Amino acid sequence: TQYVYTFGGGAVSDDPRAKDKNITGGKGSNLAEMASIGLPVPPGFTITTEMCVKYLAEGANFDDQLRADVAAALNHIEMTVGKKFGDAADPLLVSVRSGARVSMPGMMDTVLNLGLNDETVQGLASVSGDERFAWDSYRRFIQMYSDVVLGLDHGLFEEALEICKEDNGFSADIELSADDWKKLVAEYKAIAERELGRPFPMDVNDQLWGAISAVFGSWDSERAKVYRRLNGIPGGWGTAVNVQAMVFGNMGETSATGVAFTRDPATGDRNYYGEYLINAQGEDVVAGIRTPQYLTKAAKEAAGAKLPSMEESMPEAYGELAKVFDLLENHYREMQDIEFTVQQGKLWMLQTRTGKRTAKAALKMAVDMVHEGLIDEATAVKRVDPMALDQLLHPTLDPDAPRDILTVGLPASPGAASGAVVFDADTAEQLAERGEAVILVRVETSPEDIHGMHAAKGILTARGGMTSHAAVVARGMGRPCVSGASALSIDRKSKVARIGANELKEGDVITLDGATGEVMKGAVPTIEPELVGDFATLMEWADAKRRMKVRTNAETPADCKMARQFGAEGIGLCRTEHMFFDAGRISSVREMILAEDEAGRRKALAKLLPEQRMDFKAIFTEMAGLPVTIRLLDPPLHEFLPHADEEFAELAEITGYGVDHLKRRAGELHEFNPMLGHRGCRLGITYPEIYEMQVRAIFEAACEVAEESGEAPVPEVMIPLVGTKKELEILRALVEREAKKVFEEKGRTLEYLVGTMIELPRAALMAGEIAEEGEFFSFGTNDLTQTTLGVSRDDAARFLTPYVDKGIYPRDPFVSLDIEGVGQLVELAAERGRKTRPDIKLGICGEHGGDPASIAFCEKTGLDYVSASPYRVPIARLAAAQAAL
Ligand code: ADP
Ligand code: MG
Ligand code: MG
Repeated sequence: TQYVYTFGGGAVSDDPRAKDKNITGGKGSNLAEMASIGLPVPPGFTITTEMCVKYLAEGANFDDQLRADVAAALNHIEMTVGKKFGDAADPLLVSVRSGARVSMPGMMDTVLNLGLNDETVQGLASVSGDERFAWDSYRRFIQMYSDVVLGLDHGLFEEALEICKEDNGFSADIELSADDWKKLVAEYKAIAERELGRPFPMDVNDQLWGAISAVFGSWDSERAKVYRRLNGIPGGWGTAVNVQAMVFGNMGETSATGVAFTRDPATGDRNYYGEYLINAQGEDVVAGIRTPQYLTKAAKEAAGAKLPSMEESMPEAYGELAKVFDLLENHYREMQDIEFTVQQGKLWMLQTRTGKRTAKAALKMAVDMVHEGLIDEATAVKRVDPMALDQLLHPTLDPDAPRDILTVGLPASPGAASGAVVFDADTAEQLAERGEAVILVRVETSPEDIHGMHAAKGILTARGGMTSHAAVVARGMGRPCVSGASALSIDRKSKVARIGANELKEGDVITLDGATGEVMKGAVPTIEPELVGDFATLMEWADAKRRMKVRTNAETPADCKMARQFGAEGIGLCRTEHMFFDAGRISSVREMILAEDEAGRRKALAKLLPEQRMDFKAIFTEMAGLPVTIRLLDPPLHEFLPHADEEFAELAEITGYGVDHLKRRAGELHEFNPMLGHRGCRLGITYPEIYEMQVRAIFEAACEVAEESGEAPVPEVMIPLVGTKKELEILRALVEREAKKVFEEKGRTLEYLVGTMIELPRAALMAGEIAEEGEFFSFGTNDLTQTTLGVSRDDAARFLTPYVDKGIYPRDPFVSLDIEGVGQLVELAAERGRKTRPDIKLGICGEHGGDPASIAFCEKTGLDYVSASPYRVPIARLAAAQAAL
């Protein structure tokens, strides 16, 4: 196996592995691709992801073969550039960059200017004729290498720089002279030696191999693991290492560095979008140290910025860049996110990748590109991440509501969020776990803040541009973000922020509008989204491509209405127990449960009948003409028991029983393991009068709606927690008997189905037999996951995270179906069910019905529909289309 691939310098490899993301990583494969289509890419080489996996598995050792391959690849760079690595007179410098298959914030930061030491820095100074540049590069190298590879606290170096500036009365880095940098380098080296207990490495090969092993090692860092867990990335992928000849954006006023998007990543508009800094290197643009300048004149003017745009200050390099943008978009047929450097007027491309975007921009670009003829409809449908739609399905700020604006920053990631101010990621996470909405407020975010950003409803930063860490990550996560709110000053220690005369303490509520950059005092009311324009167009294309129907899980008329607006084609799961908890009814429910005998239960049930009928009427009316699956009572009675003394007192009054008597009854009904206890169809078997009442309510309501509206609903009566054919046989007879009675009373009949949930392993195994009694199966994958894995959903939180971290479960099995295990039961039940009853209707109604990976599995298994919560319906529609393509 080849583990090292070179790129640039005219040598085009025809090995497809060189451009395969899985092998050379996202960054490496795109560098090879750009070089091969003739773009100016500094030459370099990539060590493959496979090598990383091997290295980590084999105890962090480099073998002779790899050393020889790297030496040969380094020679390729030297020949192309005409400089030698470690040459004291004219040294080749390189960057060492990580690059996994997908861009991963947890991975090792890049080290620039590697190859500098006390000797080569002299060579660099004399060859460039710029001593200041050489020493600036050297100090950057020592700081980056110490931080990233040697694991030293970068604060120590920053502090030294701050002190140097203070002593000299400087406010910006550019004021430091060559001599100042020289002195600082000496200090940096002393700091490193003191912290390390040995000198900073001067041997350039030691530097290189140190950096390579740090990149590989970073794959297993905590940060990387957290990111992988949040994003469902397997631990076995590994990262590639890219070693590339340096080009310098810090060589004076004709040099610059920048980042850009070929289209606006926030709106999707077809404008080049980006930022650059003159006389700067690498991360300076995103680090928020200096305020970056706009790329285009139009953007600069729109923002009212003073500093010139690149279009104005470097028209030639800008012209080159614009050509490269168009070339890349035509080549990749996709919006690109680019990093570039201009070295003394010459443009160099350092990275391209598919640009992260907001959901709004994703939709707009997909639809626009179809109209531009760049892609077809199927590609457009495939390109939009279904989960990203979530951002568009949630409320936005009411434009008519008053806004008490504290300040306006950059509109870095759209959406609206209100929440309590917190100043650090850990607090954000803690409060979010308690169910509180928080806004993370920071000077600038870094990869260490990822968990807090995830936990927060929105992010506000004082520094950083539209391409800062906060902005990029927030857009990726779909969190609203306002960045660069420069009026904001934060005192982290005392946990207060100031905006002008306003003071914000931890816990104070603010609202962010990520689309305008506004930061507001208090919580501003929101309005529901409208699903029109590009959204509607893309959904139309998606609907034309999908096979499976999409239903919703809903039990209130409001949910039904919303789900229909979102395109639901029926109800896949209407849970009736939620209706029982209603304030006006719970006492009748309790009266029924605590009754001594059937007569007592029937008395209480008679009070519930009209209420349930009303519920179903409202639902059938909303869902006119569509199938509605109603699950009969499922939860253990245990869950409805009263707890508080007042509740017992109230009940005593209604029933005439004494409080002690009721408490004793409640004690009798207590269960040790209710999840496997007296619940589901077991209730219907032991207390048939409960199910009779519910069935009667369903059919009376259905007849009345058919009568009144002329459009008959199609009730699908679903029996939960069936494990044997006999259970379903008994309860199906009950349903038919009761339906018949109602039809006779009402003088009409209706079409309906009786079916069951498949949520016990036994039911899946016996599906062939059960299908004799059931006309449909709905896979209740929440319970099927609990019962198959033997894991209680309510208690799993304590071990799920370590289980996912250790790769025992690839993902949370309650979020994304365990296709390997639970999936087998679904497949087997579908197959056996169909064998008995070829036209059996099959659907899924667990949380998984709204999860794209699980939906893809349902398509493969040939289910007829998926059912998802209302907000997930559009996600499911798009995912179902993608699965069918
Ligand atoms: P990230 O994945 O965090 O963006 P990169 O490897 O892309 O890390 O590098 C970080 C910064 O360093 C980028 O701004 C990039 O342009 C710059 N950089 C990387 N390699 C070189 C190089 N060979 N010459 C000049 N700048 C470089
Ligand atoms: Mg980069
Ligand atoms: Mg269930």
